[in-house]
Amino acid sequence: MNRTNVFYEERHFNYERGIAHLCVERFMVVLYDDILPLCGRLGQESREQITSLTIEYIRSLQFSLEKQKKRVSDNKLLHDATQSFPLHRLTDEQRKWPRHPYVLLLEMIDLLHGFSDCDEIVLSRLLYYHEKLKPCEPGQRDRNNILESTTICQAKIDVPKIVSWGGSVPCKSLKKPYINGMMARGIFHKCIKEAIQVAMAAEESIKVKLQVVSSGKVFSTAYQLKRAWGKTRLQHLKFPCVSLVPPCTQCQQIYPTVKYHPSPTDHRPALWPFGNCAENYAFSRLINKAGASVIRPSTF
Ligand SMILES: [Zn+2]
Repeated sequence: MNRTNVFYEERHFNYERGIAHLCVERFMVVLYDDILPLCGRLGQESREQITSLTIEYIRSLQFSLEKQKKRVSDNKLLHDATQSFPLHRLTDEQRKWPRHPYVLLLEMIDLLHGFSDCDEIVLSRLLYYHEKLKPCEPGQRDRNNILESTTICQAKIDVPKIVSWGGSVPCKSLKKPYINGMMARGIFHKCIKEAIQVAMAAEESIKVKLQVVSSGKVFSTAYQLKRAWGKTRLQHLKFPCVSLVPPCTQCQQIYPTVKYHPSPTDHRPALWPFGNCAENYAFSRLINKAGASVIRPSTF
């Protein structure tokens, strides 16, 4: 039996077991088809990083099925991966609160291809993955992929040029505990963590000032990637499946020194816990990537 038949049968087997299995299956196919085959061309350090990310990715998919009360053994691709990858290398924190699979995938794509500041190249690449991750075929009912970020943010410093990307938290019922888990793990920069904690406790917002040491500025562009078919199709854009989204009110308040594209509107109050926003991941990674000699975050 060839590989296509295996996936076909697996797909139908999983379809009866619900959307969670289908989503996990798509993430596993992307791992085997698009990520692991390209790792050979990387240097040793990046290869080791991909291996660590892969182990956490598998744990993250296992975790999402457990939280959906689904049996991991019903998903052959994932079950086999849990047996063949060294999950014992995970720390207790990674095991308890693995990062979201889509966020891990963004990091792996960054290592493999390097995220440039050219939106068109990056968006083409993200749309390729987006189409592969969708759990349904064209013409079938377009249900949400419960594992995919709905909003993706590009954070950028112009001088020196540094780019990072982050995704929003997709796991609907898990947002608050997930965000708390990420904060316990130190995924967010300490200034951003402080701002999230204050915002989540519904106290007064504190601001995170992102000051670039050079003459550079910090920019943020947020996108929503939509399905290639259906009601949300936006024909007038160059990328018909992509729309730009202005920052929510909380992001505007908390990151006042950032230049947003599109410009903020007054009509986008956050209806979700603040730590959910893609901006938090993107800015945290930008600070870590740039280093303290380039960007000085401070709360005030
Ligand atoms: Zn926001």
